[in-house]
Amino acid sequence: MKHVDILIIGAGISGSVLAERYASAGKKVLIIEKRSHIAGNCFDHYDENGILVSKYGAHLFHTNDEEVWQYVNRFTAWYPWEHKVIARVENKTVPIPVNITTVNTLFEENIETEDEMRAWLDANKIHFESPSNGEEAVLTRVGPVLYDKMFKHYTKKQWDKYPIELDASVLNRIPVRHNYDDRYFSDNYQALPEGGYTLLFQKILDHPNIEILLNTDYFDVKENYVGYEKLFYTGPVDRFFDFKHSLDEKLEYRSINFVKETVDAEFFQENSVVNYPGLDVPYTRIVEYKHFGNQQSKKTTIVKEFTVDEGDPYYPVPNSRNQEIYAKYKIEADKLSDVYFVGRLANYKYFNMDQAFKNALDLYHSLEMECVSKFES
Ligand code: UDP
Repeated sequence: MKHVDILIIGAGISGSVLAERYASAGKKVLIIEKRSHIAGNCFDHYDENGILVSKYGAHLFHTNDEEVWQYVNRFTAWYPWEHKVIARVENKTVPIPVNITTVNTLFEENIETEDEMRAWLDANKIHFESPSNGEEAVLTRVGPVLYDKMFKHYTKKQWDKYPIELDASVLNRIPVRHNYDDRYFSDNYQALPEGGYTLLFQKILDHPNIEILLNTDYFDVKENYVGYEKLFYTGPVDRFFDFKHSLDEKLEYRSINFVKETVDAEFFQENSVVNYPGLDVPYTRIVEYKHFGNQQSKKTTIVKEFTVDEGDPYYPVPNSRNQEIYAKYKIEADKLSDVYFVGRLANYKYFNMDQAFKNALDLYHSLEMECVSKFES
């Protein structure tokens, strides 16, 4: 039996931020992490080619939130990185999000101005007053020809579901541009941590009040850790409750099978990320990590991403069926005092990195405010 003030399950964004906040406030914090490393899915390392690669897919930080931006800058330096993605569509290479160049290249148009682009979209799109699924979300913005070429099959490969089977929010993550802007995000702050994400997490967690137990499944040792003030759980919510509401219908997650190759050439592709929205290849995208931060190496490392059902859960699958199952777990979760469910898997929500930082910071603020008001009353 070991005494800790704050017990945290998982050393990803949510767990690390809460650990740092409580440790700085003088609490003794223990993080129990199943994997052999910190940083969750942001974990990166130098590979055999001397290239900084991410073990669980490229992570591009972007935010409009001042507080989050200031918070992450306390720990490490960030260099500006405006992420771009290109897609190979029927032997053509086009920017994604869809912009003027995308339409001109795919349909041999000569659009030059924003007004012409809006007119092209107006002539193609199918209007839905309030899109109720991913297909309607795309059709209402770009219409069926772009839907077929760029969204329908990519989504099927990524989720094993067509857009019609997913919430509109999934497809609405990607904007549509009426100009030539070929950046993937438009947030005020877009940057990558110098030296990588693992280093950032090492710095966040570098505090004498924080102890980290790696290679340990919380559910194997939980009897040894009782008597904490608060428990923050960042793993899959259904696992916490021993899958009790998933006997008939499982809460779905998507995982990714990362297939890594060394290519004996300076570069393999012209951009860090190339998407493959067609059915000609089974993977969704190829990431060439050397592009991030303009790294130097004689060879290059590429990673093909195949999204799969089994394996570490990375993505909750946003649709009404899963929301219904999740709602049952949420009721259970809300009944527990001093246990908090935080992050993408515990809240079953498709958060971006900055939202994960924000939610953890907000949770800390709200709990501390609560303590203050309880104390005052
Ligand atoms: N998507 C698509 N074609 C693309 C890129 C994305 O159809 O070339 C869809 C797909 O359903 C994906 C969603 O848009 O899940 C959101 O894309 P995002 O890049 O945000 O996905 P992530 O990087 O989080 O996997």
